[in-house]
Amino acid sequence: MPKAKSNKCSFCGRSASEVRFMVPGGEPGVFICDSCIDIINGMIQEMEQDDKAKNKQKLSKNLSDVPKPAQIKEFLDQYVIGQESAKKYLSVSVYNHYKRLLQADDDTDIEKSNIIMVGPTGTGKTLIAKTIARLLDVPFTIVDATVLTQAGYVGEDIESLLTRLLQAADYDVAKAERGIVFIDEIDKIARKGDNPSITRDVSGEGVQQGLLKLLEGSIVNVPPQGGRKHPEQRMIPVDTKNILFICGGAFDGIEQKIAHRMNSHVVGYVTGGRRLGKKDDYLQYIEPQDLKSFGLIPEIIGRLPVLTHLEPLDKEALRRVLTEPRNAITRQYKKLFKMDGVELEFDEDALDLIVDTAVKYKLGARGLRSIVESVMIDSMYEVPGTDIRQFTVTRQLVAEQLAKSTKIQQ
Ligand code: ADP
Repeated sequence: MPKAKSNKCSFCGRSASEVRFMVPGGEPGVFICDSCIDIINGMIQEMEQDDKAKNKQKLSKNLSDVPKPAQIKEFLDQYVIGQESAKKYLSVSVYNHYKRLLQADDDTDIEKSNIIMVGPTGTGKTLIAKTIARLLDVPFTIVDATVLTQAGYVGEDIESLLTRLLQAADYDVAKAERGIVFIDEIDKIARKGDNPSITRDVSGEGVQQGLLKLLEGSIVNVPPQGGRKHPEQRMIPVDTKNILFICGGAFDGIEQKIAHRMNSHVVGYVTGGRRLGKKDDYLQYIEPQDLKSFGLIPEIIGRLPVLTHLEPLDKEALRRVLTEPRNAITRQYKKLFKMDGVELEFDEDALDLIVDTAVKYKLGARGLRSIVESVMIDSMYEVPGTDIRQFTVTRQLVAEQLAKSTKIQQ
């Protein structure tokens, strides 16, 4: 570093001859000396420590500050249509999770209430988990179980799950250690076949064994950048004891296993003498042993004590998904148009046709968005910049647009 003898540190006023080196600033005549740099570095470190301490304080609130199960459910109701049972289970488990974080250190240890949600794809599993995380203001991440493989095989190591959580917590380890991880498609790591002797099942049982360590609570060394591309990176130890894991999966075909179990007790009938017809009816009677028949190992099932199910969304539910949630699709389009000063309306029978199309092509709730997008694309292209101030989506417009669409095949 060149010493500019005539220059003074703009912070302490010492001249270049009194210090080891002087760093020039962006403006002429502005300098900072090495000892001021040291002092500032120290201050930054202190501030970071302070922030961490404050974060810790913020996390350890009183139970009275935590939303009650009924309040959590009420919040979920604003975003998630139907799924009463799942919303209730989740609300209670999350509340209990807080109790666990705040529990007194005595003989009775409240155990972790990791959750497993079983239900067809596109029925709101991820939505529920995301919405809860929003309410609680804790770091939240979604990971897909299908990318996970046993260490040493192609794919992501189990620990990479926590890399995402660390990233969501801006690398604040204390915060990440109280976060929520949503593991999607947990059914895809089920053991293939009922034969427990298949031990080299890379994407199945090995991954379940790896997951177990995380679910039960242990200190895991997490690669901060994830993956194996950066072998030189320093691992960050993360304690998973207080991380809440929510797993979700469609478990295609599990209804048969439930039906089989139930019918082996009373043929054709279940408790209450109710006859079950459609295969979907069985999901509400799901029990941990059905997950075992599906191929989850008992240890994993034991670490996911809260088991709940989601119903397939019928026509009526899909209709509500379109308009009722706080960020319902139609509301989003109304907002988009409003920004151009245009009042957007949807006719009731236009909405009916959108729902009928989703049902007809089995697109579910996820498909509603692409249908509405196809319906709106031309209007969104044409309307801005015109003097149109009011725009109504009619059934005829929906029919015409869908007939044109190459994405939604009629
Ligand atoms: P999955 O059950 O496969 O996790 P998602 O939660 O990702 O399904 O649902 C996909 C999308 O469909 C959501 O982002 C949401 O827009 C919509 N959706 C699904 N289920 C519901 C529901 N019960 N209430 C409101 N919207 C829903």
